[in-house]
Amino acid sequence: MRTRFKEAMRRLLVSLEKELVQSLEAQESEYDELTLAHRTEETEDAAVRNEERALSALLHHEERRLTRVRSALGRLVTGHYGVCADCGNKIGEQRLKAQPETIFCYNCAKKRQRNIRSPHLS
Ligand SMILES: [Zn+2]
Repeated sequence: MRTRFKEAMRRLLVSLEKELVQSLEAQESEYDELTLAHRTEETEDAAVRNEERALSALLHHEERRLTRVRSALGRLVTGHYGVCADCGNKIGEQRLKAQPETIFCYNCAKKRQRNIRSPHLS
């Protein structure tokens, strides 16, 4: 992999990490407020419960993405970045640009989506 491309990906992943951390912090406090209000008022408001659920789902989604972004940064350091975890082929640069934290090449990701339905590995 070209050094310049690697450096570009590193920068992309670092800013992605920062973005996710900030978003998670904001959501966590929002979530706390929501659950706190929910508990103290003991409201049976379905809208609040739905919002709570939606927030919590988003939170988990972003937490998982943050984990993947951080492990991608680790792979950049060890030199394993951009290699498919499944077939060992190089992951295309276009794909990495679109999804810098991915660990699968296009074909393997597609295969997985079809077979296992494992969204946190896509
Ligand atoms: Zn592959």
